[in-house]
Amino acid sequence: HCKSNGKGEIALYDKAFDEGRLHRMLIEEQIARGLVNDEFDVFYQPVVDGATGSIVAAEALIRWPRRREGQLDPDQFIAIAEATGQIHPLGALVLRRACQDFVQLPGLRLSVNVSPAQFRDPGFERQVAEILQETGFPPDRLQLEITEGYLLAQPERAIRMIGEFKAMGISVALDDFGTGFTSIHYLQSYGFSHIKIDKSLVSGLQPGNKASLLVAGAILLAKGLDMEVIAEGVECVEQADLLRKPGCDYLQGYMFGRPLSFGDFSQSMPARPAPASREHGVVSMGR
Ligand code: C2E
Ligand code: MG
Ligand code: MG
Ligand code: MG
Repeated sequence: HCKSNGKGEIALYDKAFDEGRLHRMLIEEQIARGLVNDEFDVFYQPVVDGATGSIVAAEALIRWPRRREGQLDPDQFIAIAEATGQIHPLGALVLRRACQDFVQLPGLRLSVNVSPAQFRDPGFERQVAEILQETGFPPDRLQLEITEGYLLAQPERAIRMIGEFKAMGISVALDDFGTGFTSIHYLQSYGFSHIKIDKSLVSGLQPGNKASLLVAGAILLAKGLDMEVIAEGVECVEQADLLRKPGCDYLQGYMFGRPLSFGDFSQSMPARPAPASREHGVVSMGR
């Protein structure tokens, strides 16, 4: 709180500001180029049934190997793409590619991340419907993941959108649960089918500690509200056990598989019998 030579501090601040802006402009330009040159990939990470260990679903995750500068993680460019509006073509690309890929793997559910900006876009529902139609992917195998931030800004709108997706047969999951401030009151009115416990909570799990109490409580709450629970970022048996005990329905994390290209993902799947006529067949992990 020393108000020393303001000049120097302002100069420093401005420099950092300009560098941030410059960086964002550079990434924006690279995303634009990447879209034109088809540089984006979609990888898939398995989600397993907590009780049986069978793969029941996969989460689609965007990958950007960037031909010239090397791979950049989604956390480094999704926020920029949201700010520039480029998230719309990127999001459509991920959804279309993922549906094209997973229509070939009957029996598996597909979960796709959606940015608040997409969810806010009045044309989004129609876009989703068109992609499903175009790819022939069944809506009841699709799940959209949305993070908490958006809900706080526009709860009524979120509730309506989730209801409309539900009517189309698509389920919506609350992603990164435990990192935001969703009130219990809202949680029950949104209509989520699933909540995904954030990996920051999972990584803190120790027998009897605060994180494990919190997670057990969240699982109980979700069940009471008729939602299923997925834990993300599960890396070891100890964490898996602490999640299974209070009844976590599904587990996802490096312990069960890293995100893989579609080719690698489908090759890692054991040969399967013809799709069952039941709701959705399950696939044994074989590991
Ligand atoms: P998310 O949706 O919460 O995805 C989970 C992230 O955790 C992924 O990071 C995944 O690779 C990583 N992860 C999975 N298992 C483990 C584990 O056992 N340990 C650790 N430490 N990490 C694990 P990724 O792929 O870097 O994506 C980061 C975030 O970027 C995602 O978080 C999501 O919010 C966003 N994102 C990724 N793809 C898309 C996309 O297609 N559209 C949108 N809108 N956002 C995306
Ligand atoms: Mg996610
Ligand atoms: Mg998540
Ligand atoms: Mg996360």
